[in-house]
Amino acid sequence: METGKRSYEAFWKQAAKEVAQNISEQEFATWFRGIEYAGSGDSQITLSVPSSFVKDQFSQRYLAQVEEKLAELAGHELTVKFSIQKKTPGKAGHEEPSRGQKADDAGTRKRQHPQLNKEYTFERFIIGESNSFAANAALAISRNPGTGYNPCLIYGGVGLGKTHLVQAIGNSVYREFPDLKVAYVTVETFANEFILSIQKKTGHQFKNKYRLVDVLLIDDIQFLEGKEGTQEELFHTFNALYDANKQMVFTSDRPVSEIRSLSDRLRSRFERGLNVDLQPPNYETRIAILNRKVEEKKVKILDEVVELICRNINTNVRDLEKALTKLIAYAELVNKHITLDIARQQLKDFFAQPSQKNITIELIQKIVSDYFGLSYKDLRGKRRTKAVAFPRQVAMYLSRELTEYSTTEVGAEFGGRDHTTVMHARQKIEDRMKLDPNLEPTLQGLVKRIKENNA
Ligand code: ADP
Ligand code: MG
Repeated sequence: METGKRSYEAFWKQAAKEVAQNISEQEFATWFRGIEYAGSGDSQITLSVPSSFVKDQFSQRYLAQVEEKLAELAGHELTVKFSIQKKTPGKAGHEEPSRGQKADDAGTRKRQHPQLNKEYTFERFIIGESNSFAANAALAISRNPGTGYNPCLIYGGVGLGKTHLVQAIGNSVYREFPDLKVAYVTVETFANEFILSIQKKTGHQFKNKYRLVDVLLIDDIQFLEGKEGTQEELFHTFNALYDANKQMVFTSDRPVSEIRSLSDRLRSRFERGLNVDLQPPNYETRIAILNRKVEEKKVKILDEVVELICRNINTNVRDLEKALTKLIAYAELVNKHITLDIARQQLKDFFAQPSQKNITIELIQKIVSDYFGLSYKDLRGKRRTKAVAFPRQVAMYLSRELTEYSTTEVGAEFGGRDHTTVMHARQKIEDRMKLDPNLEPTLQGLVKRIKENNA
């Protein structure tokens, strides 16, 4: 590759070093470590990258900066070109060539993990502001399982990509590290298998299945709620794997602190490692994701239609996909090209759907205090004047109706009140509703406002 004329390698090294000063170590490790200098040409430098994915991500994030630095150093413009490394040794490639070589075997590259969906890969995961922390952590883990972020917990609302990301780790490790044993399981399956193993007296087999793996991926740990036996079993599995430096990744639809009836010792273990969250994607990311889905489905959809969907659906990626699927099905059925009008007509119900984002107690308190002309602080506070008593009861009542929080958790948000106060408030409102015909419409109006503001 070297032309012999000039080598810009030193410039590349220096440019990378300078960019590194502006970003976190983790970011640098994720995006720069796999890149190698591959040669220079006329006003051009070639970098060898592990995958098209890294190339795209690197280009989006750093190319402009890098080229600017290179121009400063060289005194003239230097264009960066990429070559994709044939094999993908990952971060461990240099230190552990045997793994990289194995991964390159034609036979092992194409194998498919029985528990994983092959579509859930990093290549198909669009990274935006809302998910970059989680995605970068997942990528880093997939390159170096068991050494860095262990355990890792990915949490976020429905349809934001938790299962996709955790399975992407599985698919990647399975492909790149053929000698590592990967297991993926949802908490529901884990619990069912556990119960079955007790019934069939095959506990030993069950234990081995999950305690002798190198990478354990457990999806939806919020479903551990109330499953004491399963929690206990998982606790021992966790300890066995943790002591052996095996990688564990969990997902949850809420932070661990909000999972109810979870044993303290298990909770503290989930919280021990890296906890990263997924947020709903912003407009630009939604567009990027939907465009990718259109591409994957090999259909033609007008840009205006993609924009229409992304403007109106801001909840999560699953809802975006649903809207797209509906349009495609319609177009196929009636054999029509999808115009903006057709899209509007067909997706009317979708767009009218209330936001699925979880309502917070804070939002309820803000709307209720605003409605009654009180300050938010007073509503949350300890003062017991008559003016705040009723609005506070309303807010407590709505908190129980509109959120999943327990009476204890609701009480805590209202000046650390006891759960019995919350129960009492609820009773009061229900009693009063029977006497006062205006109360119910008032509450309905408040619910509407809360939902409208929960975007
Ligand atoms: P969760 O497990 O958080 O409920 P999923 O992982 O099942 O969500 O994601 C829902 C759908 O959205 C899946 O089809 C997934 O592929 C897709 N998806 C989510 N996030 C992204 C993303 N950033 N890029 C591409 N597809 C995504
Ligand atoms: Mg999921």
